[in-house]
Amino acid sequence: MSRHTRHSTLRSVTDLVAHDLVAPTDQAVLEEVAARYAIAVTPHLVGLIASDAGNDPIARQFVPSADELVATTGERADPIGDDSHSPVPGIVHRYPDRVLLKLVHVCAVYCRFCFRREMVGPGKESALSDDAYRGALDYIRVHPEIWEVILTGGDPLMLSPRRLSEIMAELAAIDHVKVIRIHTRLPVADPARMSPELVTALKVQGATTWVALHANHPREFSEEARAACARLVDAGIPMVSQSVLLRGINDDAVTLAALMRAFVECRIKPYYLHHGDLAPGTAHLRTTLAQGQELMRALRGRVSGLCQPNYVLDIPGGHGKAPVGPQFLATHGSCAPDHEAAEETRYRVIDYCGDVHLYPPETGD
Ligand code: SF4
Repeated sequence: MSRHTRHSTLRSVTDLVAHDLVAPTDQAVLEEVAARYAIAVTPHLVGLIASDAGNDPIARQFVPSADELVATTGERADPIGDDSHSPVPGIVHRYPDRVLLKLVHVCAVYCRFCFRREMVGPGKESALSDDAYRGALDYIRVHPEIWEVILTGGDPLMLSPRRLSEIMAELAAIDHVKVIRIHTRLPVADPARMSPELVTALKVQGATTWVALHANHPREFSEEARAACARLVDAGIPMVSQSVLLRGINDDAVTLAALMRAFVECRIKPYYLHHGDLAPGTAHLRTTLAQGQELMRALRGRVSGLCQPNYVLDIPGGHGKAPVGPQFLATHGSCAPDHEAAEETRYRVIDYCGDVHLYPPETGD
């Protein structure tokens, strides 16, 4: 079967073989991967995969690999500690002023590096029960410090426009909830589903909606995906980005620069570049922190300040995100600019070319 024939979302290894995305000889081992982790590749993304699927940065994100059966030290089912910060089902309360509200456990696509891969997909708990949803809303209501609710999952935009609009209205009716942020991959994974009805459902009186788009490679910004993002921004919904640094996909300065520019061209402010989480079977897609820092240094010299994301690590165990560099400032010593001034720390500052300068400069610099 041709890869570009009209088809529905590919959800099995047999589907992937039929569309030349995996070799028939790999089918048996990939069935083992599929028994553990969900598969979904939308027709839109299949259409973006080049003929050499093995090395294609879109295919590597969604087509399973036998490497996923390899567990390495430190990997864990709940790498960022959602469970240990979940006071009631569906809520993760890690920071005082915001909570995650996990409404669904399904996505339009299943990313091979997903940090919630043990929790998402068919066969996992598919949505919050009505009782659990009511319990989650009650939790938000009685915690006035919650200023922002982050809808995540799974992909919350898998819900129908009608259901989403009810949920948005219920959240916005809580006085102290001022911001509702939605994390999604839908505009790049299945842009046609980002319909005007869905966009309208996200706008609500009483709270400001933000959308955080997850994309990892500039080729995800097809014409259709750009149009889907434009529907959101044109409706007055501000957008930020999130990406994961992935080996063999976006771990070079040229690709990362193009990715960040694509976000900005779509009026999406680059926000987070995540270091790969310790999700099971994902070591083949992780870089080292040193590589990530080097790439961020290269990015600073290469693209506009608008295109700079924060490189962050989710500390295993649920201790939150930490910016992980690189550092451009180091203490050099101390100096007294003149006899009346207090002693001041002198620093070494690294510029975008990697050259080192003293601040404050020494006399004559
Ligand atoms: S869309 Fe998000 S939650 Fe769904 S599989 Fe990808 S990373 Fe995981």
